[in-house]
Amino acid sequence: MSTRSEGVFEIFRPAIDFRISVLLCAALALACGGRPVAPVSVKSSAPVNPPVATVETEAPEAEVALDSRAAPEPEVPIDSAIVTELLRLAENERRTGDIEAEYGYLAEVIELDSSHSRAHARLAEITGPAPAIPFATPDALVSRALRHPYDPKALVAAAGGLVARGETDRAIAFLERAVWLADLDPAASLSAIRQLYALSDEWREHRIVPVHLYVDELIRMQPDWRFQMRNLWLSASAMLDSALETRFVPIAILPFEIGDAPNDLDSIHEAFLAEARPSAEGLYAVMTGRRVPDDDAVYKKGVAEFIGRSLAVRIAPGAVRSRVLAHEILHLYGAIHVLEGVDTLMNPTGDALALDAPNIRIVRALRGREFGSGGIEQNVIPYIDLGVTIAAYRAALSVNLSLRETEIDEAMRSSESSSDQVAYRVHKATYLDAHLADAAWLVASLMLEDGQRVEAIRLFDLASQLYGRLTPRGRESADRARALRESMGAASPPAIE
Ligand SMILES: [Zn+2]
Repeated sequence: MSTRSEGVFEIFRPAIDFRISVLLCAALALACGGRPVAPVSVKSSAPVNPPVATVETEAPEAEVALDSRAAPEPEVPIDSAIVTELLRLAENERRTGDIEAEYGYLAEVIELDSSHSRAHARLAEITGPAPAIPFATPDALVSRALRHPYDPKALVAAAGGLVARGETDRAIAFLERAVWLADLDPAASLSAIRQLYALSDEWREHRIVPVHLYVDELIRMQPDWRFQMRNLWLSASAMLDSALETRFVPIAILPFEIGDAPNDLDSIHEAFLAEARPSAEGLYAVMTGRRVPDDDAVYKKGVAEFIGRSLAVRIAPGAVRSRVLAHEILHLYGAIHVLEGVDTLMNPTGDALALDAPNIRIVRALRGREFGSGGIEQNVIPYIDLGVTIAAYRAALSVNLSLRETEIDEAMRSSESSSDQVAYRVHKATYLDAHLADAAWLVASLMLEDGQRVEAIRLFDLASQLYGRLTPRGRESADRARALRESMGAASPPAIE
């Protein structure tokens, strides 16, 4: 598997063709000390990654892969016997100080498992940043990048050299790797993205969403945690690729201290939002290593702002894919939970990795949304087709919502029910999805924007019921409905809508 051609190796190709593997560090050649070392070339066929567990409710863990091409894999990878042996050999060489030999073994690990975070972390340490070079010929640039394959700037410079030599595919591989390492050098990564758009038809079809990652102290205890985070987000992009065609790029990976905060994700998420006021463009995510406690209570594994820009997810030690993460990202694009029993990523429990058709329709309608400051008026409405989006929600909600609405109506109308019973039935009809109220609010807003005021009033009323009439958002929804009704009454008779 390893061709020892003098010190050169092929680079891996993370990215968009997720069927190939993620990172690839392909071959590495250390070339230090004159003796060309490792071989390697990568391209394991491991699909980029899929995830884990269940989402906001119960606890069972599962895994994921939205893309049906990708076979579900464990979220926390288990080293094969050969990888375990290679790591042992590498460790022996490290102890004796033979870095070239160690490098060679680790490169073979990457060849077998392109998302092996630990091997990447050690290789990055060994190869370090690239030195400046006086005569930047294309060959020199390529050779330098091969010796320092974790230096985004060197990778981008080398890609320029490769383009000059007419090796476009190889240049794309170098650039994709630079994007995978974006947090190390966001400017180089931005340059890589621009060049990818110019060089690759596949990239031109993709949207780029920058991610600001905040990682808690438990995850950071593992030396390879940064590679774990890069691999997690690359795998999430791959999992959702057929629906979103979006590459989520962590451009900042920052520490976040959770300390003694209660072990529930809503509290962690709120503490994060209070501390890290999102300002820069992009998605904000908290990743915590806190496990779901072993008791009977229901703990969430992930939370997200519906159509917002932040989420929080529990990540198992060493996991390089996460079903929960994919699920929460979908909420940012307006996806809603489905009724129990449907196998889809939007079922909060279960392990399905595929996405149901109604949710695919919704997220594709919202795929062009932005992640800047402000609400849906700034980030969503200007970038979507209102008619298409409303139609997508109507289809998705028709069954889901009408069933629950019926239940709520019945509960409210029933003269024998005590207010406790009504509250219980309303709760039962809505407990499955805290986002259902948000969805009703969103669609009401879209309809208002679209001039469908009668329908908007109805949905604001419904949102009020779903939130709970006495909650702040429930009151706000009811107020919106009332104000609209009054403004319509004050104006001329309602047009037929
Ligand atoms: Zn959910």
